[in-house]
Amino acid sequence: MMTTVKLVEQELWQREEKGLIGILPVRDAAEMTSVGSMLSQGSDSGERSSKIQVGTSDAHRHEGKNQQEVFQWHKTGVAARALNLSRGVEKPSGRVTYTVVLEGLCRFNVEELNTRGIYCTAKVSPLEMTKAEMEQVEQDPDFITLSRQFNTTATELISVFEQKHKTSGRIRVLLDTVPPHKLADIFVASFEMSFEEQLSMLDSVDLKVRLSKAIEIVDRHLQSIRVAEKITQKVEGRLSKSQKEYLLRQQMRAIKEELGDNDDDEDDLVALERKMQGARMPSNIWKHAQKEFRRLKKMQPQQPGYNSSRAYLELLADLPWQKASEEQELDIKAAKDCLDSDHYGLIKVKQRIIEYLAVRKLKPDARGPVLCFVGPPGVGKTSLASSIAAALGRKFMRISLGGVKDEADIRGHRRTYIGSMPGRLIDGLKKVGVCNPVMLLDEIDKTGSDVRGDPASALLEVLDPEQNKTFNDHYLNVPFDLSKVVFVATANRAQPIPPPLLDRMEVIELPGYTPEEKLNIAMRHLIPRVLDQHGLSPEFLQIPEDSVKLIIQRYTREAGVRNLERNLAALARAAAVRVAEQELTVPLNQGVEKLASQLLANRLAEGAEMEMEVIPIGVNNPEISNTFRIASPLIVDEGMLEKILGPPRFDDREAADRVATPGVSVGLVWTTFGGEVQFVEATAMVGKGELRLTGQLGDVIKESAQIALTWVRARAADFKLAAAEDLNLLEGRDIHIHFPAGAVPKDGPSAGVTLVTALVSLLGRKSVRADTAMTGEMTLRGLVLPVGGVKDKILAAHRYGIKRVILPERNLKDLVEVPTAVLSSMEIILAKRVEDVLEQAFEGGCPWRQHSKL
Ligand code: ADP
Repeated sequence: MMTTVKLVEQELWQREEKGLIGILPVRDAAEMTSVGSMLSQGSDSGERSSKIQVGTSDAHRHEGKNQQEVFQWHKTGVAARALNLSRGVEKPSGRVTYTVVLEGLCRFNVEELNTRGIYCTAKVSPLEMTKAEMEQVEQDPDFITLSRQFNTTATELISVFEQKHKTSGRIRVLLDTVPPHKLADIFVASFEMSFEEQLSMLDSVDLKVRLSKAIEIVDRHLQSIRVAEKITQKVEGRLSKSQKEYLLRQQMRAIKEELGDNDDDEDDLVALERKMQGARMPSNIWKHAQKEFRRLKKMQPQQPGYNSSRAYLELLADLPWQKASEEQELDIKAAKDCLDSDHYGLIKVKQRIIEYLAVRKLKPDARGPVLCFVGPPGVGKTSLASSIAAALGRKFMRISLGGVKDEADIRGHRRTYIGSMPGRLIDGLKKVGVCNPVMLLDEIDKTGSDVRGDPASALLEVLDPEQNKTFNDHYLNVPFDLSKVVFVATANRAQPIPPPLLDRMEVIELPGYTPEEKLNIAMRHLIPRVLDQHGLSPEFLQIPEDSVKLIIQRYTREAGVRNLERNLAALARAAAVRVAEQELTVPLNQGVEKLASQLLANRLAEGAEMEMEVIPIGVNNPEISNTFRIASPLIVDEGMLEKILGPPRFDDREAADRVATPGVSVGLVWTTFGGEVQFVEATAMVGKGELRLTGQLGDVIKESAQIALTWVRARAADFKLAAAEDLNLLEGRDIHIHFPAGAVPKDGPSAGVTLVTALVSLLGRKSVRADTAMTGEMTLRGLVLPVGGVKDKILAAHRYGIKRVILPERNLKDLVEVPTAVLSSMEIILAKRVEDVLEQAFEGGCPWRQHSKL
């Protein structure tokens, strides 16, 4: 804007009586738009025609340019009155700025322009109408119509305006007080218009023309407001619910920020991203994670999929892609010590573990077989595995596979499923937090397959060094390298493990312990641990060897030491209660007396004079309570055992009681709990010669029963078995054989000789020997075939207090595995034929032979 500073200075600022000034629009020569310059009217403001001074900026003058050349003055202008004038601070350059608020009064026409003064002046003629002229125009029907039309449009604009800005009143007043043609000027001046339009409005001296132009402009303005409103409405309508929520949430976030609450999603995401960056994923997986993260960032927290996407990324960030326990130099000697200090006995097993560790030390990436500890519960399989981890200095994790039938348990569900999860391996690795733990696959023999897939095949991939570099969990959906994990497996039996899986493993058998071994384990490991777990020490509880022996004999009859440990824990609990009670009821007098008499004795010895001394003694005085405690540790004896553990659960008389009647024999079977003593009962009743079997039996055992019965019937004629009173002992009779005790499923052919013995005992009416147990498969022709699990069976017989065991002759070789302490306390009888078995099973030999001899 060009300011005519001199004019303002002289005419408005310095002069007392301010005159009117004239404003003329100008254009520069290049047809660029510009705004008005200033005219100053003479002091007589009332004059219709007057001398006008026109001011221009000094700047232009100084530049020495010809005013006329630079500017083109418009012919129509506006006379204006200054309403407000303010002067800015003088700048160092000497320039001063003025701010002038002007009120336009009337249009004028320039008749003669003088640009040679300090500022321009002009001779002008006002373009305002006289009163008479005005009155005349007001009569004009066209003018009236236009006025009305303008009023309507203006009213409309005002109401739209008021609605939008929730204001009312003030502009509306103008409508009623100001004549329409003036209103037109006021309205139009407030709109943004092109310079040309402004000029044409200024030039519209004729009121009708002016009004119709104003109507057009106001109307245009109104329309544009309406269109804008429509668009906003449409856009607002399209804002979906979630977008609104988003807006609200943004606001809430802002509020929270103000309040200093930081636990908000965005921060969470930032934390997640940081965690992801710290996870050191392989580059391709990092890219994948980034993609997913970008997707997550675009989602609203309420959106379905947000949580699942987040949980997935959390998993990616949590998984130990590179993080590993520091691999320390393996010290074989230390490893040996560690194994020895944790486990009693198990010499061969420990030796094998040391070999395994030594190979690992020499060739860390050796693809050795996976160790698989096989044995009954409680023989230390798990604790051996954790000792391996300790020896390697790695973290230990256990994955229980018992009862896993679904492949997804191992491999996870695809993320498309609702509530999908990673498999146990990946989940375990996330928890353990390192990529090279010792991972125990517990009870690998208990996985089964069904319609949901075969977990064994997934395990095969896990254990195969060729494949486990890129283990594919369905949920994770990117390969994870399992090759650094050391796998160890456990099983109760090797037989149910699918052969391909077994092929990858090296089976190490843990047969179960002899009572002596158990005693040693209890004294050296279990008792100290149990005491420690219960906050006790030998000062409170002592369990002498004899009592431990009794517990082993009478309260536990197991291959491992788990129940033994449980019973010891029961004793410790009882002791803990006693100690806790005692602490409250320490007989104070006793303590005080002891201490006082001690004091007295000392004083007397010193020969000093007796003085009464008050010693503050409280229950909490550690000296006193310790004295008392040490005075009476709880020593477990037989009576106390019965009190705490109840009456003995097993005794040596059981076998004798069970076989007291003919028809019962003592067998040895093999279950998942190790070897077991199994009684077989047979009875006969009137019937059609049928064989009935009860107990949890498999098909093979049913066949064995058939074979046994057939053999006995065949021999019955040979040996004239039924001689006594009824030749047709087997005719017209049903035989019922029962395997009592337990819901443990039994199968396998090793009960053959036991079945025969039971039948012979029944039919010969002679009881078997209570001290003799047997095992062996038999053929139809009466040969005794070798069986498995000999060691476990002998141990079971030993636990049971059985003194003689009849074994198939060809099982002789298995006896080397049996601890000598057990063997030496037992008589092992080897049988080739069923007749040999029978000969040994009865007191005084086989009843048939006796009979036939007769
Ligand atoms: P499993 O895994 O074979 O069922 P665990 O490893 O859980 O058996 O062992 C049961 C308990 O018996 C553990 O507390 C273990 O320390 C202890 N244990 C087993 N065998 C021995 C042993 N030879 N020496 C010391 N403690 C043993």
